[in-house]
Amino acid sequence: MGVKLTDEADILFIRRPQDGAPVGSVTVDGPDEVRAAVARARGAQQGWASLELAHRVRLLGEFRHVIARGAEEIAARIVAETGKPEVEALTEVTTVVSLCRYFERRALRLLGPRRVGSGWLQWKRSTILQEPYGVVGVIAPWNYPFILAAEPALTALFAGNGVVLKPSERAPFTGAILEELLTETDLPTRLIQVVQGGAETGSHLVASGIDRLHFTGSPAAGRQVLAAAAPRLLPVSLELGGKDPALVLSDADLDRAARGIAFGAFFNAGQTCLATERVFVESSVYESFLRRLIRFTSELRAGSGGEAEVGPLTTPEQLAIVEEQLADAVERGARVLCGGHRIDPASNVFLPTILADVNERMRVMREETFGPLLPVVEVADEDEAVRRANAHPMGLFASVWTGDPERGRALASRLRGGGVSVNDTLSHWAVPALPMGGVDESGFSRVRGDEGLLAFSRSRVLLENRLDLAREPWWFPYRPGDRRLVRAILAWEGERGIRRVSRALGALLGRGET
Ligand code: NAD
Repeated sequence: MGVKLTDEADILFIRRPQDGAPVGSVTVDGPDEVRAAVARARGAQQGWASLELAHRVRLLGEFRHVIARGAEEIAARIVAETGKPEVEALTEVTTVVSLCRYFERRALRLLGPRRVGSGWLQWKRSTILQEPYGVVGVIAPWNYPFILAAEPALTALFAGNGVVLKPSERAPFTGAILEELLTETDLPTRLIQVVQGGAETGSHLVASGIDRLHFTGSPAAGRQVLAAAAPRLLPVSLELGGKDPALVLSDADLDRAARGIAFGAFFNAGQTCLATERVFVESSVYESFLRRLIRFTSELRAGSGGEAEVGPLTTPEQLAIVEEQLADAVERGARVLCGGHRIDPASNVFLPTILADVNERMRVMREETFGPLLPVVEVADEDEAVRRANAHPMGLFASVWTGDPERGRALASRLRGGGVSVNDTLSHWAVPALPMGGVDESGFSRVRGDEGLLAFSRSRVLLENRLDLAREPWWFPYRPGDRRLVRAILAWEGERGIRRVSRALGALLGRGET
């Protein structure tokens, strides 16, 4: 099931993860096709960047309407390619549309010319301008095939760039829809180009002469992309995997914690970079939390039909990883408290699974799972929970569950990563103003929020004179008084209070000179 790349012809065959029914096939693009796509996007980008920012923002508002009106068609493609429940597919479209709306409100302020103070150079006028990179390459994974293609692509367009998108080889039709919908707007039709294929096409894109690259995927592929980009000094942003911890403290509302953690772990069948993949519970509430978690997890409807809450794993490889990690954990002494197998041997729906008696020697605690396995660990106290949560090299997101907001904030500040939710999981993805990204093996960039929008443009400086002086005081030729002037500025910038004035004046008058 999933995708088969034939040896003879470079064609991707896509099948529905639910039942293996064919979805369609696409031709893989080679280096020449990728370079041609970059050239087309570059041609369109030049006109796009020369439009007034307000005009660009208005056109992108139209694009938002077109995307929102195409939601059913987009969701149908996502469901066909990933197998996820339709409501989760529609959530992808909603998230993209709401980010677009946020950028429409913020773009003029963030991307327009910004006047800043000139420090002690009071006769100068200093302005910061944001300029596009040119053509941005976007390489996307399959787990949120619309969000992770459309969000960086739209962000790049707001900043004045053109885009060449390479969707995942598992979800080419969802990726292609962005280029199709563009033709229903007044934006330049070639501004988004989609190229198809797997890692090889991705590497052609890295080498194609693009001006910036945004990559979302696994740490292993992220390393390869970064290495390939290095000789060209191509600016790259990396959004990589996660192994997010949840910390359940003794004063938590255990019903909410168990429901929230089940949602964080099993949304999209666990195939989420921000999925809760490790739970650390204070020993005084361990048993009562676990009872609730097992109850809520066992109630989830797993299957391939329209009513399912937990759908199939999208790829056979992903299913194999889940089964291998489970077998490894059980062999090393883990107990399966619920789930632990497919709904039937021919299906790729794997039941949401809770594991106890786990430790860090097990693969399920060390490696990203990206599936519905949730290990739960009993810890003595919050210090042990923080230590074990932070010990993992990935640092994407975390959650803390407590009845005490102060304690929640204090713990949040001790956890490594791109952010922490207190008494919640995943909801921050619905807040477009919040930047998203990780640390260490989870990557280093930020998308979404003001930081995410600025990241797709370069700052550029404009310095002008407000006074027309015949020469600047520090220009050649150097004169005897120059040293005094520099010492006065040093005192002015380096001292504070009354000393600042007296030292600066003293320096100007030559006091203390040898
Ligand atoms: P992947 O790394 O296998 O592939 C991601 C994309 O990169 C695909 O389009 C693939 O064709 C391409 N690719 C792979 N190797 C390449 C190379 N050497 N050069 C150029 N392109 C290459 O990941 P995946 O299996 O599609 O997605 C799952 C991974 O993505 C998980 O690790 C998950 O945590 C991560 N992810 C991260 C985020 C985030 O925002 N941090 C979001 C979603 C998924």
